[in-house]
Amino acid sequence: MRMYDILKNKREGGVLEYDEIKFFIDGYVTGEIPDYQAAAFLMAAFLRGLTMEETVMLTQCMKESGDIIDLTSIPGTKVDKHSTGGVGDKTSIVLAPLVAAAGIPVAKMSGRGLGHTGGTIDKLESIPGFRAELGTAEFIDAVIRTGVAITGQTGNIAPGDKKLYALRDVTATVDSIPLIASSIMSKKLAAGADCILLDVKVGSGAFMKNIEEAVELANTMVYIGNSSGRSTMAIISDMSQPLGNAVGNALEVREAIDTIKGEGPEDFSMLCRELGAVMLMLGKKAEDLEQGRQMIEHLVSSGRAAEKFREFVMVQGGNPKVLEKPEEILPRSKKQLEITAKTSGYITGLDAEKVGAAAMMLGAGRAKKEDAVDPAVGIVVEKKLGDAVEKGERIAVLHVNRTENLERAVRLTERAVSISERAQNKPELIRRIIK
Ligand code: URA
Repeated sequence: MRMYDILKNKREGGVLEYDEIKFFIDGYVTGEIPDYQAAAFLMAAFLRGLTMEETVMLTQCMKESGDIIDLTSIPGTKVDKHSTGGVGDKTSIVLAPLVAAAGIPVAKMSGRGLGHTGGTIDKLESIPGFRAELGTAEFIDAVIRTGVAITGQTGNIAPGDKKLYALRDVTATVDSIPLIASSIMSKKLAAGADCILLDVKVGSGAFMKNIEEAVELANTMVYIGNSSGRSTMAIISDMSQPLGNAVGNALEVREAIDTIKGEGPEDFSMLCRELGAVMLMLGKKAEDLEQGRQMIEHLVSSGRAAEKFREFVMVQGGNPKVLEKPEEILPRSKKQLEITAKTSGYITGLDAEKVGAAAMMLGAGRAKKEDAVDPAVGIVVEKKLGDAVEKGERIAVLHVNRTENLERAVRLTERAVSISERAQNKPELIRRIIK
């Protein structure tokens, strides 16, 4: 087999066989196939597309290129959840202990933030003492003991995807639905859960800017999951404004704690309830969505979800007092700076990408992989789309530790906000549920 022939076939719009895709991925991981041929493959796949079957085969080959986490020693149906990335998205911090409190084991691998979106691992590490880099054995042991653990990537997961993703970044081939779907699903399948829930974000702060693309991505990933023997569902949710109010690591943990106690912002609490209800369905604890919702509400109002959160934090070395006294335990910024409304009216724009980028400039996120994050800084938006504001009223608060980039962050936050005389409809948070 020659890579040249595979490239020629794809360039002409041909459909590849399993052996050809495997030859490419294995050869690229070992270094026998050079970057220039891999780049040519990506561009051909980007321009010609991949069939569903090719996408499934690419996913499988990338999954098999590295370690596959064996969760079979954990009793019960393991349910995982993945978000395609958003601003202020702290759902995993709430959902993992929440569904674990219903008896569904959650063994979750999460990432760090890059660009305008944050990462669950950075957020959790803002809890003093919390260890988010567990070895595989310790990770599985924590799930057996408490029903829930969240770690950064353990082992060598999908190295084929890792190498290709880096190449896609520099060859303008990131935003292809089959390539995104196979990239995400190769890692999810290797992470070992029995069932997968995908939260596909749509809107200005998301990869997918319109609903048609989001539906196509969700359908592709659901197809890959189900045809790989994992029960998979997807929710398409709005990311045209930040989720909840807080953007920034410790600020988001605090909001997640409020939510797990039933005191969170309305939109974020609702998303957690819907995602949680679907996870309970996938884990066979609820018959349908309505029963799942009721169970989630009960787990929150009874305090069982909060109790599981405390246990989860403690087992991973974090200070469990964070549940009762987040304001004392979590790091806080030195200064706070208010952004106020320039005119009276209604909020008609609150661009998630701009708010995320402004929080990153304050130090909450990374522009490059090597950058350190400041756990205390970020932005809390106090007004959301559709809210009425008076001239001079507070819209957002910047939590600040350094002056570097501060001016730019303030300007960007101001530019994220649009105020009009006439109100527009609030965006629908849950756009679709896909089975
Ligand atoms: N996240 C991934 O893991 N891969 C992609 O291609 C895009 C987002």
